[in-house]
This record gives sequence, C-alpha cells and structure tokens, in this order.
Amino acid sequence: MVNTPEEYIESLLGRDPVLERVLEGIRRHGMPEISIAPPLGKLLTLLVKAVHARDALEIGALGGYSGICIARGLADGGKLVSLELDHEFAAVAKQHLTEAGFGDKVEYRIGEALASLKKLDEEGARFDFFLIDADKFNYPNYLEWTIRLARPGALIVGDNILSRGRVIDPEISTISVDAIRQFNERIAQDPRLEGTFLPAYDGVAIARVKGGQTR
Ligand code: MG
Repeated sequence: MVNTPEEYIESLLGRDPVLERVLEGIRRHGMPEISIAPPLGKLLTLLVKAVHARDALEIGALGGYSGICIARGLADGGKLVSLELDHEFAAVAKQHLTEAGFGDKVEYRIGEALASLKKLDEEGARFDFFLIDADKFNYPNYLEWTIRLARPGALIVGDNILSRGRVIDPEISTISVDAIRQFNERIAQDPRLEGTFLPAYDGVAIARVKGGQTR
C-alpha cells in the first residue's frame, strides 16, 4: 500500500541492496538519518551521466549514500572529491564507497568545506558536477565557490532548499533559513546560472553554469 506520491515513485524504482546497506551502516553508526531519498539519488546518477561528468564534487559526505549515486554516473576514469567536516563520517562514507566498488574513485577532504574549496581552487581543480548538501548557513558561500570551480556547462545540485517548509513561512527568519532563501534566489536569478527547483522531499535546486558544452 502506498500513501504518498513519494512512496509510489519509490515502489516503482524497486530495491537497491547496495544503498540499503549504506542506510543500515548509517543507522548502526548512529549517524543522522538524512540521506537523500532513493529517487533523488537516481536523479543524481542520471544528471552526472547526462553531462558526461568526469570530475564531481560533493559538499557533505555523511555516510556516502549520495557519493555512491554520483560515482555510479561518472565517466570512465572519473573521480569524486567529497568534502566532509567530520572525520568519522568520512571514514564511514569511504568504507561504504569501497564496499560499493568505488573506493578508488573517491577522495575525501576532511575539515571546514570553505577551506577545502579554497584549497581546491588554488590547486586549479575544476568540476563538471556539484552536490551541495551540508550546513545550510553556508549555502550562498558554497554556491559562489561551486560557480568558481565549475567548468562551463557544469551542473550544481542543492539539497534541502525548502528547509522542511520553513522557507515559505514569512514568520520564520533564522540565519540558516535566510541563507537558503538567498541561495534559492541566486539559483533563479544569477546571470551566470540557469536554474530550477523540484519541490519533492525537502526540495532540490538544479542549476547549469552557463557556457559551452562540458567535454
Ligand atoms: Mg540533505
């Protein structure tokens, strides 16, 4: 019996034993159970494939669920750089990607993401695909960094852009909710981007960095 559109879609897609094991691992380690939903994971894989991404960057690894979804879509020889504040989370994510067969495709950088982004820029790193799924307070900053690190035509995906509905409540103004609103306005209006939103789950933003084709 399905009760919601989300449950209906998830029933269509069927089970994914690899990702189910990741969710079990996250529970076992007492980590927050806030991984992206299975249909959004599949969307990540499809978007990574659609732009033939070779270099992907995620901000916020958690237990590796989204990392596996991204890695599944990477072009041959592709690589995921994953930024994670918590070294224990990064270790769990690394273990899960290794078990899924992607251990050699992922590099974890542990610590404050803003510092890692600056370092990546200094190294000349550039990416075809980004997932922003970390502390909401820094979403506008993360967006600016991803645009800076983007190859022309790169895709940027942002998760939790509805902040459990708080962004649409004019009575609510917190640092995090206001940051998400600012992020969303930039996705919609920044002249360097073409963007849109899906209101499914906790909301997803998808933007393309203007410019030529990727690869
Ligand atoms: Mg999220």
